[in-house]
Amino acid sequence: MKKSLLFVIIILTLSVSSVYAATTGYTNISDIALYKDADYASKAAGTVKLNTKLTITEEKDQWYNIRTAEGLSGWIEKYFVTVPAEKYVANNTQYKINVRTSPTTSSKAVGQLNPGDRVKYIDTYHSWHIIEYNGNECYVASWLTDVEYENAQKIYLLHDETNIRSEASLTSNVTAQGNRYDSYEVLTEKNGWLQIKLPDGQTGYVAGWLTTYDQNYYSEEKAGYKKTVEDLNVRSGPSADHNQVQVLSKGSVVKVVGSENGWDKVVSEEGVVGWCSNDYLKETYPLSGRSILLDPGHGGEDPGSISYSGKYEKYVNLEVANKVKDILESLGAKVYMTRTGDYYIKNKERGRMADRLNADILLSIHHNSLNNSDYFGTSTYYNTIHYKDPAHGYNLAEAIYLNAITVNGIYRDGIFDRNYEVLRETNTPAALIEIGFMSNPYEEMNIHSGSFQYAVAEKIAAGIVDYFNKK
Ligand SMILES: [Zn+2]
Repeated sequence: MKKSLLFVIIILTLSVSSVYAATTGYTNISDIALYKDADYASKAAGTVKLNTKLTITEEKDQWYNIRTAEGLSGWIEKYFVTVPAEKYVANNTQYKINVRTSPTTSSKAVGQLNPGDRVKYIDTYHSWHIIEYNGNECYVASWLTDVEYENAQKIYLLHDETNIRSEASLTSNVTAQGNRYDSYEVLTEKNGWLQIKLPDGQTGYVAGWLTTYDQNYYSEEKAGYKKTVEDLNVRSGPSADHNQVQVLSKGSVVKVVGSENGWDKVVSEEGVVGWCSNDYLKETYPLSGRSILLDPGHGGEDPGSISYSGKYEKYVNLEVANKVKDILESLGAKVYMTRTGDYYIKNKERGRMADRLNADILLSIHHNSLNNSDYFGTSTYYNTIHYKDPAHGYNLAEAIYLNAITVNGIYRDGIFDRNYEVLRETNTPAALIEIGFMSNPYEEMNIHSGSFQYAVAEKIAAGIVDYFNKK
């Protein structure tokens, strides 16, 4: 009690002293409702997507009062919000670095960062850091600057025997190992790697995708999908004494995010949160009855991108597609592949294969390249030439993108409408993902790591589940 009062005082003090003191958080679950009050018995006030940026204006017990950039506001349980540490962009070079109005070297320079300068970090986009500069959002080149953390931000390891290395790269020496649940303070981040403080006072680097910022993550592992076996009351707490907040009709699929005394805490397809007696919920496979065509891009005489170190894209596309296939099958889907080996199929033919198989969706898997080795980040694509309904491609591209960029160390590059043959020459809802830039030497190393591929594959699968849940 005293603790929360202290928090309120701190928040009040901060909000009077500075406009920028409001904390930023991000939703860590897809399509979650906001509430009028800090109580599930109050009315839902709108729904927000996964990874939505939230400005936290107040906190009360287990709840945040938030507003979004689109002007939505309401209460959300802290459990569904990840609050990252304040980060800064530092100029650790001996040179002045231009601050620009957009993420390109040809845009106008509005100022410079002197050697040793630190400015507030907002986000990363297309290999440019977005910073706060004289009260405005401006851009500095990520390849010239470092990201540093102001306060002790803890990260948690996801797996046992995780290697901690001397440098931010898979080729550097392993200097220590950590286990699942171990937590460390983060000092900086570089190319998807986190520099952490070890118990003996030394520092080391761990791959971002082997870590999580989210303390709730481990309970999330229990998360699964269940189906109602009859019409079912959803209540505001884990007993029949609590208010009824919704009635789910028989056969509804819910996401289970917690469990207590025979009651499951669930999130409905509409984002409504509440508790159900688990006597009336049955485990289900969220993709059962769905058929999916995965397309590992290129193959045979067509190598695709050739990486910074001379490796071919066609091989990594197939490696990732095989991992996505295994995960989708474990979720109940019927999965087809356009190719299972190193041979070439015309792009047009890949699109038509989806129609012939009567697949529900087509996902093409690629890795990007540019003749500029600085670029990095994940992007997804859709095509609107043959359709007007966003459910046909955009929704799939968006759901996969929003999930993929939650992998620590993955940066965002955007969701784009492109006239790609594989997306155009099909009547099946279709999207394409470019997981990262093989032309960037650091991102390339990550792309070839099996653990990185698996982390991304899991999020691609989660995006596909989200897409079908919304339909
Ligand atoms: Zn490609």
